[in-house]
Amino acid sequence: MSDGSKISLATLGLDRGATWNPIAAYGPDGKRGWACVKIDAACANCDAAMLNQNRRFGNGLDYTVQGMQQSRLELVNLDQPLRWKKPRGIFVCSMTDLFGDFAMRFVPSIMDTVVRANWHRFALLTKRFENMANWVGLTSGFMPDKLASPHIWWGMTVGHQKAADEALPYMRRMRELLGPLPRCPIGRLPLILAGPQRRQHRVRSPHRCGPCYRSWEVRRMLPLGQ
Ligand code: SF4
Repeated sequence: MSDGSKISLATLGLDRGATWNPIAAYGPDGKRGWACVKIDAACANCDAAMLNQNRRFGNGLDYTVQGMQQSRLELVNLDQPLRWKKPRGIFVCSMTDLFGDFAMRFVPSIMDTVVRANWHRFALLTKRFENMANWVGLTSGFMPDKLASPHIWWGMTVGHQKAADEALPYMRRMRELLGPLPRCPIGRLPLILAGPQRRQHRVRSPHRCGPCYRSWEVRRMLPLGQ
């Protein structure tokens, strides 16, 4: 958790931003950090994985299946957004993927806080497009107005065109379920966000990100709300 975060995904165009990481991962020695599993070329230079491997900050484990198997996941600071009284843009699970298979059991509790703390703006981002769309599909039937609230930004991060192509049908599905998607105020690409995980690796990375859909193309394919 980091209050006062300046990263654009946290502030979402607001003055005040924060990251909120309610899923903690304890390593075999009990050291607390985070966990995820790299699933895509765009994960190659994941900032979160590097931070977690540094034992000053994390539990020292890599974001691999083996690292995940050695981790014990637990919910922490679940009510933190409810305790922040001033509105913030909050990047949820900036150190992992909220819709990773390993995290799905935590999604209902986390979303309960997200729905209730409606004076903030939350960014929910995933590379597991299908998991997000399926969860929304299963849940939206009995709480559509809550999931479609403008304070919740549903986003899919893609690092290359192939991932953008894969994400698009799921974003369309989300639109069918939740209605017109809000226009994200940051970046050029609303809701489908593109880019490598570390800006400084943009040139060096072997998985250098190619251009993805341009904003007008996304708007044409996924008509957005205001
Ligand atoms: S899904 Fe996100 S947090 Fe997980 S390894 Fe990939 S870039 Fe890192």
